[in-house]
Amino acid sequence: MFREKPVIAVTPLWDVGRESIWMLPAYVKALEDQGAIPLILPLTDDRDILDWALEGCDGLLLTGGQDVDPRHYGEEPHPKLGELAPVRDGQELYLIPRALEQDLPLFGICRGEQILNVALGGSLYQDLPSQLPQALSHSMKPPYDRGVHRVSLVPESPLGALLEVEQLSVNSRHHQGIKALAPGLEVMAVAEDGLVEAVRVPGKTFAWAVQWHPEHAYEADGASRALFGAFVAACRG
Ligand code: MN
Repeated sequence: MFREKPVIAVTPLWDVGRESIWMLPAYVKALEDQGAIPLILPLTDDRDILDWALEGCDGLLLTGGQDVDPRHYGEEPHPKLGELAPVRDGQELYLIPRALEQDLPLFGICRGEQILNVALGGSLYQDLPSQLPQALSHSMKPPYDRGVHRVSLVPESPLGALLEVEQLSVNSRHHQGIKALAPGLEVMAVAEDGLVEAVRVPGKTFAWAVQWHPEHAYEADGASRALFGAFVAACRG
């Protein structure tokens, strides 16, 4: 009976200061509410373990987190680069191509969008405030379940079709952002300052990522629930 529910691998969070693996309940709650079984992965870049885990899962959720090491896109660290999570980089840069190869549904949130872009050959602003000074503020203060800037949806994109609006007000707490878009990605939403806020890999069943945090707004916001709902429906197959 359990297998009627899709099992979704969730990449774990890493607390550098506490040297501790952790998770925000909102990610798993949002998946559970849509009828999925969330399975938090071990924090490892061991390929045998990750292959085994993907084998048993119907989808992959890439969570938020630390900055991505710029050496993965051929840049030296900027002085304002934030904390890194090397094992998460290794884990996600291995899992993303495997998931895409198998057409396993994948949903990236915040860092998840950034690492998807890096995995496919794109680059990031390492520090938005200094490298994109004309950008609006993308580091809001709590509470995080409210919109602080607008994004324009590409109307002919699947995201535009799902939400049936031209603009969306979203939360925003990210230090980095997409600089050079990876060749394999298509833009689905852009912020008022031009920053890419949602992408997908065309030709796949569901390989989407957003720069905002639908898990924070999940209780109150229909668009956030619709995103998780579309992802879980794709995982259900
Ligand atoms: Mn933003």
